[in-house]
Formats: sequence, structure tokens, C-alpha cells
Amino acid sequence: MKRLPEPFRIKMVEPIRLTSIEYRRQALQEAGYNLFLLPGDDVYIDLLTDSGTGAMSDRQWAGLMLGDESYAGSRNFFHLRDTVRDVFGYPFTIPTHQGRGAEQILFPELVARVLSRAPTAKPVFISNFHFDTTKAHVEMAGARAINVLTPKAFDTGAYDDWKGNFDLEGVRATIEGSGASSIAGIIATLTCNSAGGQPVSMANLRAIRQMATENGIPLILDVARYAENAWFIRERDPDYRNVSVADIVKEMFSYGDIFTMSAKKDGLVNIGGLCCFREDEELFRAVQARCVPMEGFVTYGGLAGRDMEALAIGLRESLDQNYLDYRIGQVAYLGERLQASGIPIQTPTGGHAVFVDARRMLPHIPSDRFPAHALGVALYEAGGVRGVEIGSLLLGRNPETGVQEPSPMELLRLTIPRRTYTNGHMDYVAEVFDEIKSAAHTLPGYDFVYEPKILRHFTAHLKPVAIS
Ligand SMILES: *Cc1c(COP(=O)(O)O)cnc(C)c1O
Repeated sequence: MKRLPEPFRIKMVEPIRLTSIEYRRQALQEAGYNLFLLPGDDVYIDLLTDSGTGAMSDRQWAGLMLGDESYAGSRNFFHLRDTVRDVFGYPFTIPTHQGRGAEQILFPELVARVLSRAPTAKPVFISNFHFDTTKAHVEMAGARAINVLTPKAFDTGAYDDWKGNFDLEGVRATIEGSGASSIAGIIATLTCNSAGGQPVSMANLRAIRQMATENGIPLILDVARYAENAWFIRERDPDYRNVSVADIVKEMFSYGDIFTMSAKKDGLVNIGGLCCFREDEELFRAVQARCVPMEGFVTYGGLAGRDMEALAIGLRESLDQNYLDYRIGQVAYLGERLQASGIPIQTPTGGHAVFVDARRMLPHIPSDRFPAHALGVALYEAGGVRGVEIGSLLLGRNPETGVQEPSPMELLRLTIPRRTYTNGHMDYVAEVFDEIKSAAHTLPGYDFVYEPKILRHFTAHLKPVAIS
């Protein structure tokens, strides 16, 4: 791909600091070798997440000054609602503090609907892949979360255009197996975060829409990365080569009944979320009633007026073709740099991150000594770059047996914040990989000093252990 310069110039700078290797060794020790426990100031290039870490534009910052902090009926809410109607075609909008805020007010209502028509049913949600918090809120609402992702997604070395797609036969079988009346909803995650930011095709979305309609099941779009998904459709589906991203977004959303959005990704804001409805006004009213005690009054949902203004502006900015070419091009650029150095990655790269295959890069470290974590620690030590482990450390122990089972993949995720780093930073990251590559076979594994029972990866303390 042709290298694209950043389609912006820099008006305000935030200094970052490269520390010495001795300093970082000390910082790692103090953090119990857990990258989540490092102070942000000690990180040079932070690729932990793309969530809420991007840069707002000058127009969004100007929008903050137009904040109307009225408790009820803020003018920024009306701007946001009108923008959602114009961009996505959904007239009923509830703002929320972030994506999980939308999940926590919507899912209990969908589960209640199942139980009102089938009181003994065990409600189920089907998704290409439930994001972590999505799965948690499905389960907290008393339902089961079933993933039916295309098997092609699990082969990191094999190219496929649509690794985020539903396995359509799997969806059909799951509906038949559970009975359509017990399905509380089908959730289409666009792009599929857990598969590596991989896109869902328009044809797959259309097929899922048809199955939902035939079975009377609501289709929920989980659209944290709606613009990136639309960009991939334009890029890879010949039928859409001459269609604008804005029109592709409209068509994608026309297949859903409801959408939930973490606006901290393609919304281009640091905090915010949305829960919106295309036609079902009755459901909208019921979810609004839950919003008030959980998120806040229905015209602010946990956000300041100024936050809603910045979001209304960001929702349109991310549709810009030049921005998306640069954005997804930057992710691909880092991927190509790493591949050129012989670093194994998930291919093709997705919309928001490069996933390094640590099982292939550090074959000497077994799963229960956390190879992707070991690679993450080495990357920070060598260059002050922070990635995040997506593997056995994150997976945790089997809750019934307490056994540490190997994760299907051991990945180090390098997540690129939007409009924040330049390709100069990406070159630097690739050079740090070059540096650690030759000594990769000597890297230690890790074992626990302190292992919390739930969500251990956030707060655990570890220590290096030599692999003989
Ligand atoms: C981030 C994310 C969420 C949760 O949103 P938050 O804003 O972090 O609460 C839900 N679904 C997907 C696909 C996400 O990427």
C-alpha cells in the first residue's frame, strides 16, 4: 500500500518521554511485571488500547465551548440526536456514559421480553463475537452468550477478507437448538473486535438480517468501529467500490433494529456511548426508563453537554475517506514493517490493531508461562512501548477445575489510538521489535506472585522465571 502522510497538521503537542532502560527495569519491578500497573507517564508509546485514547479535532475542541449544561433538554443532546438520525437513520437516541452503559440498560429489557412470552425459557444472545463487557452484561441480565464466528478467523496466517463474519450455518443451528422464542437478540459486532478488528461483509449482514426477520429476533448492531467496517466494505467488496463510506454506513445500519455504540472508538471522543432504536418506540421508552436511574436523565445519560457536542461532531468526522485511508493505512503500515522483519502477525491486519503471534515468536515459552505477556514485558523494557496480552493470562483458569488451560491463541495486541501517533512512531515500534527479535529465544516466562481470583490480568503481580 502507498504510504500516506497524516491528513492533519499538529496544532497542540503533548510531550512524551523516553526513559532509560535502567529506569524501565525498575518501573517493571515496581509494577510487579504487570503493564496495567505502570503509570502512563512511564510509557513512551502507549498501544494498550484505542478506546478513548484518540485525539479530538480542532472542531471538536471548539464544540466543547458550546456545551449547554442544562440538566434536561441540553441543546447538545438535540444536535446529537439529529446527527444520529441523519448519519445512521435511527430517530430514537439515548446517550450513555460509554458502550457498557448502553448494554446495561438494553439487555435486561430484551431478556424480559423473552420471559414474558416464554416464562421457562433460558434466554440466549447470539453474536459473531461478544465483546468482554457485552458478554458480562448478557450474563448479568440472566442470559447466555453464544459466539458463532467464521472458523477462518482462528487461522492467523491465512488471508481472508471477512474474518469478522458470522458462521451462518452455526447461527441457523443455534437458533434451531435453542428455539427462536428464547433468543433475546442477535448481536453483530462491527468490526469484530475480539477477532482482531476484522470486518463483517455486507452480504453476511444481509443474511443475518433475513434470519432475524424470519425468526422474529431483534438484530442489535454493536458499532464501536462502524466507520472502519464501512471502509473495509468499500475496499474489498467490488459492489461498493463507487459508494461513499457515508452511504455504506447507512446501508449497514438499515439492517439493524437497535444499535449500541462505544463512542470512544470511531466516535472520536474520549468518553461517551449511544443506545439507539430504528422503529421500536415502545422498547425505546422502556430502555429510557432504565437509563434514568443507571446512567442519568434521558437527555444526558452520564455525559456533560459539551461531551455530547464533541460526539455529534466526531460521528461525522470518522466518515471522511482521507481520515480512514490514513487510519487503517497506519495499522497496515505497522503490520507490514513487522512482517518485513519476520515478526509473525495475524493477517490481514484489521482496523485498529496489529496482533503479534507470540506462540510462533516465542515457541520455547509454554502457555502457562504466558508467552505474549513475556513479549509485552520485553517490548516495554527495550523501548518503552506498551502493548497488551490477549492470551492465557487474560483467559484465566477454568472456573470449575481451577486449571490453567491454554488459550487458542497467544497474541500481543498493538492497538493504535486514532490521530495520535505518526508513522515515525510506528517506525520506532518496528525498530524495537528488530532489537528484541534476535534474543527472543532467551526471554523468560512469567509466574504469579499474587493472582486475584477474577479479572486477574488487571492487578496480578508476576515474576520472571527462566525457561530451561
Ligand atoms: C469497547 C467496546 C465495547 C464497550 O464499550 P466501552 O465504551 O468500553 O464501555 C463494546 N463493544 C465493543 C465491540 C467494543 O469495542
